[in-house]
Amino acid sequence: MATLFSQWRESLQRLGFAMPPQSAATPAPGPGTISPSVQVVASTWARDSHDLFDFEAHHLQTQTFSVSEPAICVRNGTEVRVLGERETLTPGNGEPLLRLVQRDGAFWVDKASSSSNSKKLWLVVRDFSGCGHRVAEGDVMKLGRFKFRVRQLAANACDGTQPELKLDDSGVVCCTNNAGDDLTTTMCRICLLEGPGEDDPLITPCQCKGTIEYVHLGCLRHWIRGRLNLSDASGGSYFYRPLACELCKAVYPTYIHTGTDRLREPLVEVPLTQPPFIVLENMVRDSQQHAARGLHVISLTDKVLKLGRGHESDVRIADVSISRCHATIRFQRGHFILEDNNSKFGTLVAMKKPRIVEPSKSISIQMGRTVLSISAQPGVGSCTIAPLQQLPGVPTSAQDERALRLSLLTRGSSRGDAGAGQAGGGTAD
Ligand SMILES: [Zn+2]
Ligand SMILES: [Zn+2]
Repeated sequence: MATLFSQWRESLQRLGFAMPPQSAATPAPGPGTISPSVQVVASTWARDSHDLFDFEAHHLQTQTFSVSEPAICVRNGTEVRVLGERETLTPGNGEPLLRLVQRDGAFWVDKASSSSNSKKLWLVVRDFSGCGHRVAEGDVMKLGRFKFRVRQLAANACDGTQPELKLDDSGVVCCTNNAGDDLTTTMCRICLLEGPGEDDPLITPCQCKGTIEYVHLGCLRHWIRGRLNLSDASGGSYFYRPLACELCKAVYPTYIHTGTDRLREPLVEVPLTQPPFIVLENMVRDSQQHAARGLHVISLTDKVLKLGRGHESDVRIADVSISRCHATIRFQRGHFILEDNNSKFGTLVAMKKPRIVEPSKSISIQMGRTVLSISAQPGVGSCTIAPLQQLPGVPTSAQDERALRLSLLTRGSSRGDAGAGQAGGGTAD
């Protein structure tokens, strides 16, 4: 039995399921240890605006379901329904949100389908039980309608790690005079002097040809210094964005190989960043936002990183969907912890793989304007509860009341429902 069980665990892990730590005391799944049902509390914001959910709204459509067999949650307008796995999904059923699957005697939350246009599942950071989200490289987080990708985390101060400044389309590395040409009569397009200087090679950083092909590295750096206002913030924090040639529009390379030993160094003279530091990439939605592309390099020595609309923010986003102090990232005991600061439109982390519904922890997942809070109901026999039963709006047990509190009280606020009337979906505080 034990061997079969571990083989099964391994095959699940190969399929990408995260497994809870297996202790020797964990018995094989049996009637006494499984969670036979989960409670799903669905809250849907009445407005449909930029896939946002207003965590301060008073008027939400809230529905509670008890689910005891594999199911799929769908939404039609503001109404969420839970369908059995075998019910056929037709467009009339509504938009699929997520699936609840049963593995290992427990429920797991998964995408509605494996296709890439399946709705993205976002974990709601404010509903994490007390501890925030432990950030990992590659995480995608969403604040209001802005997304960031975690490009790099450096915790250790002793190995000399510096931020990796590569953006997706600027991976070109420029080499100094790799053809070995004689450039003594070649002119620099900025200072108009001929030939390379001492420790100042002539380079061809873009697509320009002819008399404007070459430029001194020092002259280009001087020009970049004037364009990029790299702050002198403590710990060596800055915002890096790739610059393009004003003539041919080609993006300048991020790194350059210099000297006989071909050392790789950033083209832009960036300050030394003190670990622990984090590198966040602005993920731009469309070409109009192109100027906002770039990397936030932020050192967390002696401070907490603040993301928000306020002037004191380390990552400042001037947008109505962002609260003044929206979220924070701090470095604690070797980990980077993301926390939401009761923001109006929430702090979310993209769910990368199926997640288990653990007995004492509920998970909240946002899909557009709906948040589903899912919690296990241990000890309730599956025979006593009808599958896919929708509970009435009034709490019927301590369990239901707790879930309703979670979905209603934590979302309510005295600041009023800014959802009404405004085109932008209300302004965050
Ligand atoms: Zn020059
Ligand atoms: Zn050019």
